[in-house]
Amino acid sequence: MDDKPARRIAHARAEEILDFFGKCRACGYPAYAESTTLRYDNGDLETKIIASCALPCGWTGEVSATPMTGAAARPRT
Ligand SMILES: [Zn+2]
Repeated sequence: MDDKPARRIAHARAEEILDFFGKCRACGYPAYAESTTLRYDNGDLETKIIASCALPCGWTGEVSATPMTGAAARPRT
């Protein structure tokens, strides 16, 4: 997996996700999340959702991009 062609990040943008309701996987405390959009100089576009614990336990991790707001059960109008 280390033989990817070299590519450089041309642009990065981070945005806080206000409707993120995930929890810290280490201590269970509510976490906050940032959506980071990375654009590479070869045209690739990647969006990562990085969650971080709101307590200083140090946990941070990539999470699913699906908002955990029960949107599947309640279609928005
Ligand atoms: Zn934590």
